[in-house]
Amino acid sequence: MSTVNPKPLVLESVNELKQWRNSFTHADLGFVPTMGALHQGHEALMSQAAQAHKSSLLSIFVNPAQFGPQEDLAQYPRTFEADLELARRCGITAVFAPQPQDFYPAGFSTQVEETQLSKPLCGAFRPGHFKGVTTVVLKLFNLVRPHTAYFGLKDAQQFLVIRKMVQDLQLHVRLQGVATVRDPDGLALSSRNRYLSPQQRALAPLLQQHLKCVAHDVVERKTSWLHSLEKAREDLATQGFQVQYLDLLQVPDLSPWPLEGLPPSAPGLLAVAAYLGTTRLIDNVWLGDCKPWTQCS
Ligand code: AMP
Repeated sequence: MSTVNPKPLVLESVNELKQWRNSFTHADLGFVPTMGALHQGHEALMSQAAQAHKSSLLSIFVNPAQFGPQEDLAQYPRTFEADLELARRCGITAVFAPQPQDFYPAGFSTQVEETQLSKPLCGAFRPGHFKGVTTVVLKLFNLVRPHTAYFGLKDAQQFLVIRKMVQDLQLHVRLQGVATVRDPDGLALSSRNRYLSPQQRALAPLLQQHLKCVAHDVVERKTSWLHSLEKAREDLATQGFQVQYLDLLQVPDLSPWPLEGLPPSAPGLLAVAAYLGTTRLIDNVWLGDCKPWTQCS
């Protein structure tokens, strides 16, 4: 006999979340922070959290603090009823979906900033973005007090920045990174993929293909990695992408990859951000053994 998961409890305000959290008699809570418009990538995080813990909380909050003035805050997709149904199917216990004015009441004036790992890659193109991320995540951790929080490795830099914040501030939370979920043609799932035209959607998997080629060159040392990165940037531009960055950095501190080259097993992050039309896509490949960096207590 198949069991049907109950609908998750919906917590619409910070006060409702506090009351729910204070009613807990156990500490085994898994937490999945998101901005909604959920897809199978989010589903992987929710399923892991629901299966690994007695209780699981999903947050859906399009966080204004992590969007720049020219970015797509107003257009960001909002699909609450469908999100709730996916959360139910995954076995999530409760969904926290606050309003911005409740989460950031008038006069809110505190921000948390990681100052090193948040500088390169997306940090160089989205000023203030990671400060918005660390601020919202720290506030959520404080309210939710999860045992484990689940984050996707598609947002590799975000994961490493949050991991650093957890270490530096000695927060009592375990982090679990979850592998990127992709469409069969290799495109990393993203809430923003729905904005791609059919032609752009057909081009989008090239991002992952170029990353794989560069990764192969780096590991096999077929050509200089600098040359390989430059060629991939040029090819993507020719194919219609506006590339913001395509870079190789060391993990976990996101320092530059050494010019003389590391042994092939040295951990690295090869990451790209590029626009197709007005849609910004990111993707990455981890080089070497990324396991130690995708968990932390
Ligand atoms: P977002 O709603 O975009 O803020 O994402 C919420 C969480 O889902 C983040 O931890 C993301 O890294 C993760 N996520 C988004 N897309 C994917 C994907 N394709 N595979 C795995 N995790 C993902």
